[in-house]
Amino acid sequence: MTEPTILPRPTARPAPLIDPFQRPISYLRVSVTDRCDFRCVYCMSENMTFLPKADVLSLEELARLCNAFVDLGVRKLRLTGGEPLVRRNIMWLVRELGRRLDGGGLEELTVTTNGSQLARYAAELVDAGVRRVNVSIDTLDPDKFQAITRWGKLDKVLEGLEAADRAGLAVKINAVALKGVNDGELADMVRWCGDRGYDMTVIEVMPMGDVGGETRVDQYLPLSMVRAGLSERFTLTDIPYKTGGPARYVTVEETGGRLGFITPLTHNFCESCNRVRLTCTGTLYMCLGQDDAADLRAPLRASDDDTLLEAAVREAIARKPKGHDFIIDRRHQRPAVARHMSVTGG
Ligand code: SAM
Ligand code: SF4
Repeated sequence: MTEPTILPRPTARPAPLIDPFQRPISYLRVSVTDRCDFRCVYCMSENMTFLPKADVLSLEELARLCNAFVDLGVRKLRLTGGEPLVRRNIMWLVRELGRRLDGGGLEELTVTTNGSQLARYAAELVDAGVRRVNVSIDTLDPDKFQAITRWGKLDKVLEGLEAADRAGLAVKINAVALKGVNDGELADMVRWCGDRGYDMTVIEVMPMGDVGGETRVDQYLPLSMVRAGLSERFTLTDIPYKTGGPARYVTVEETGGRLGFITPLTHNFCESCNRVRLTCTGTLYMCLGQDDAADLRAPLRASDDDTLLEAAVREAIARKPKGHDFIIDRRHQRPAVARHMSVTGG
């Protein structure tokens, strides 16, 4: 009698997450806290009411949720906030998720930060597997920096960047274009980034959440104008470079650096959207610019295995809308969505 052939057991791979418009969902952004040590004028009002701590998922629960998404085919995770690096014990979560890199399903783990805590954490981030960070800086003028962030200090952030450089972290600077505030300075920032070997992305201000006295019309500067202005100083060449995000990139011939434009208002970027956003309470937003969301906290807490959670994630992805409807003009003074950017982390 011949021995039965033992075939290798097929590893049951769950079907990937594909939305109704055939976009594969491979990128999860996680807002690990809605709290922040800054109060940027376009992001928050000075007197913010934050979520009650009791509503916020523990780091263990966030890790379980993120792991479930990686099991479902998510390949890129970005931790954001609020300010992710002010959450207590955040490095535990970073190290935990870092274990999914190098063959564990995850291809990239990144962080978006205001840089205030980077001097303390840069080396540890690298140690946990983070290779790139986005640092938000809208101006290199210390007084203006304080005016924009209300509570921030530019020198602390610059110290953080030094630490990132020493640790070998690749840095991309995010700058929100603000009419009459930093528009005259963006060319100098492009040069500064080029000199330091940083990529840079300019972002259009988005109408999210009430920010107090200022109106979006006052802040809004279309990037078509920014690009036209920069083109007078630099030779910008379109390139197909992609980081999995919505930015369209050019190279800046004079600096050799890369410059991205995120233009939700002047150029809708939804057709290639591969992402969903998880809040620190376990709410999943399928689109940054829409209110529809799914609660993942209840299925997460309802059982120790991930069957209910996976079903809830699939049901949510099946509702991902085609795109957002951001609009800023004098007739639309109210935010397009009521929640602040700090809830979903941008
Ligand atoms: N605190 C971190 C930081 O500032 O990088 C991470 C969270 S913050 C909400 C993520 C990004 O969203 C930052 O680059 C910030 O400048 C941007 N942002 C916040 N509110 C915005 C708005 N209303 N429109 C456009 N970008 C915004
Ligand atoms: Fe905080 Fe980032 Fe919002 Fe500024 S943009 S208030 S640093 S969350």
